Amino acid sequence: MGTEAPFLPELLAPAGDPEKLATALHFGADAVYVGGEKFGLRAMAGNFSLPQLAAARRLTRERGKKLYLTLNAYLAPEDFSDLANYIEELRPLNLDAYIVSDPGVIDLIRRIDPQRTLHLSTQANTTNAAAAGFWQKNGIRRVNLGRELTLSQIRTIRGGCDLELEAFVHGALCMAYSGRCLLSAALTGRSANRGACAHPCRWRYALLEETRPGEYFPIAEDETGAYILNSRDLCLIDYLPALVGAGIDCLKIEGRMKSRYYVAVVTDVYRNALDHLQDARDQHPRCAWRHELETVSHRPYGTGFLFPEAGGQIHPYFSSYIRSHDFVGVLVENSGGSPLVQVRNRFFPGEKLELVAPGLERLPFTPAEIRTAEGDSLVVAQPNAVVAIDLPIQGKPGDLLRRKKPTGS
Ligand code: SF4
Repeated sequence: MGTEAPFLPELLAPAGDPEKLATALHFGADAVYVGGEKFGLRAMAGNFSLPQLAAARRLTRERGKKLYLTLNAYLAPEDFSDLANYIEELRPLNLDAYIVSDPGVIDLIRRIDPQRTLHLSTQANTTNAAAAGFWQKNGIRRVNLGRELTLSQIRTIRGGCDLELEAFVHGALCMAYSGRCLLSAALTGRSANRGACAHPCRWRYALLEETRPGEYFPIAEDETGAYILNSRDLCLIDYLPALVGAGIDCLKIEGRMKSRYYVAVVTDVYRNALDHLQDARDQHPRCAWRHELETVSHRPYGTGFLFPEAGGQIHPYFSSYIRSHDFVGVLVENSGGSPLVQVRNRFFPGEKLELVAPGLERLPFTPAEIRTAEGDSLVVAQPNAVVAIDLPIQGKPGDLLRRKKPTGS
């Protein structure tokens, strides 16, 4: 009798634009979530026009993957006629699901496009099985659980409802109740719940006594100042078996505003970790996962509220973004002649680079020469140029190139 493969949750990756969508698929996402040009909570991400959504739908379907569209803003009364038109325009695209939060939006979609699968966003703050059951009765197929929950609470919710459960495993956290925050709207006029957060929680704050304008008293947590509202980035790479055991159906990576390199590496690491779950006897390359997650731009990592015994791992001791590597280019063609790379950050002949390919393939190499596509030698590869270089192996279009940052930079 064969051994049944364990259930593996869906790996859901973010894509702020079509290039990032292709990258997420190349590096192993089962499903990708994107924003349209309206109502999607990431006003600053590239976002997808209707034709781009149609192309994205074709690409994901060809690969046997899923495409979800975020419609998770909380709307003002005057938005509804525009939303109704948008839902009509979206309907023929037949996307796999919409990610929603506002009950008014849910109601409108159910009236205009009743067959559409709906997933509830983390903005809706679902933190118990009764709430999950309520949403299920109102047409929701999947709920993204509030990031405030502990692992044991997630287990309890799983035991009390039978709709699909999704949980964030990686990325930025809000210093607010799963994204509900008025700080940005109050300080800058840019509303977080309409996709335009200016991230004032990450700013540096000082104390001012009102009769002494211009005299700022530092509030010092450390030599870099005070970041009293700042949060760590979530990283649950070491806890996937626990989440799967708790009955999570989908693991979600945060970051539609993040770079193509970030999407590639984080998706690749979680794909690899999930694939290793299929074989309990496997040696899990935990050090490689951790190392890779340090190469992308992030704030100090923590486990959020998942383990109460560890205390809420939310507030970091320092605030800066850190990363160990720079993204330098994308392999765009490798079919016969010299491989062609689209340059993102300049690099020089003789620099040590690494090819980043799916399955945690990382191949260091040093291009002795950089050429134009026509074969002329270059002294530097400039951003946006397409250049020819020799690779140590047969890389595939969509693989990335990176360079280690000098220590201390
Ligand atoms: S200001 Fe900070 S806590 Fe508030 S929504 Fe923006 S990122 Fe989240």
